Amino acid sequence: MSIFGRRNNVITYTVNKAINRDMYITVQNGEVVVNAPWYFSSNKIQTLVEEKKNWILSKLKENEQNLTNIQSVKIFGRYYDIKVSYKNIKTPELSLEENSEIKIILPMKYRKIGNEQILKISIQKMYEQIAINELESIMEKVRIMLGIAPEEYRIENTEKTLGKCIDKIITINPNLMQFRKETIEYVILHEFCHLKYKSHCKKFYEIIEKNIIDYKKYEKELEGYQY
Ligand SMILES: [Zn+2]
Repeated sequence: MSIFGRRNNVITYTVNKAINRDMYITVQNGEVVVNAPWYFSSNKIQTLVEEKKNWILSKLKENEQNLTNIQSVKIFGRYYDIKVSYKNIKTPELSLEENSEIKIILPMKYRKIGNEQILKISIQKMYEQIAINELESIMEKVRIMLGIAPEEYRIENTEKTLGKCIDKIITINPNLMQFRKETIEYVILHEFCHLKYKSHCKKFYEIIEKNIIDYKKYEKELEGYQY
């Protein structure tokens, strides 16, 4: 077993010494295996692997792309590329990098199986955390604007809606955090207005327009979503 680096790209490979006559390398499910005759020294194997470095790296990259269809995630109206890597950890780790990248580190075992589901869960958790951090101040801002408040608000993944207001309780879908902050604010204000009017009646839009004159641009942006 040995490693070599390429920027921060470290490759690990397993040596499988057998009675083969030839040396050959396989890259499968993100795992690099070097099959070599029993009498090959590790130095010799290392040299041969380094010679094949570009091929191995391209194969590994192919693998990563096959494993996930999730390439980017939108937060506050901005797209972040997702970079997935694997480590000996138990639970996924996610961090927002300054260069518009989201770094997700997954437990090693996901290297060999489809990681799409676990990525989705990690991203969902991230949206939840952002919602927890951001919503309080937006709620308070809207409360001051309108002079009314819900009994409570919840952050909950309501599959079909971005936000709802039932029995004086406002529920916000964490996925709302993908939109620009002003759009999020519009949805919150919209839900607050439902405290007064259940339907999207004329009076409902009168309050909205009084507070956000150009509200129609947000409605357009949110076309196809329920709230
Ligand atoms: Zn509504």
